[in-house]
Amino acid sequence: MSASSRRTTPLPPHWPRLRRAVMNRDGWVCRHVRYDTGEICAEPARHCDHIVPASEGGSDDPANLRALCDWHVLRKDAADAGRARKRAAAKRWQPARTHRPHPGEVR
Ligand SMILES: [Zn+2]
Repeated sequence: MSASSRRTTPLPPHWPRLRRAVMNRDGWVCRHVRYDTGEICAEPARHCDHIVPASEGGSDDPANLRALCDWHVLRKDAADAGRARKRAAAKRWQPARTHRPHPGEVR
């Protein structure tokens, strides 16, 4: 998966600086919290992840950004893409809002 396929909204112009600041804050280790132990993953990280994806209204604020390792960024991308697919499918398959009368009901 290429980096460009991850986003539908453009990164801010100051992204490289912002990313470095977030990665330094997080110590370049994965901040994913394990559900079973409540501890962070702590693998070496090189991805700066949007906790709430930009496609779901997540901001580029450092509070919405964290460092992730290769494994967790792939896992996160798959989850985000899954939700995006569900949203797209829900849009496609939305039932008609207006009641279409059965031919027998037409007066
Ligand atoms: Zn991780």
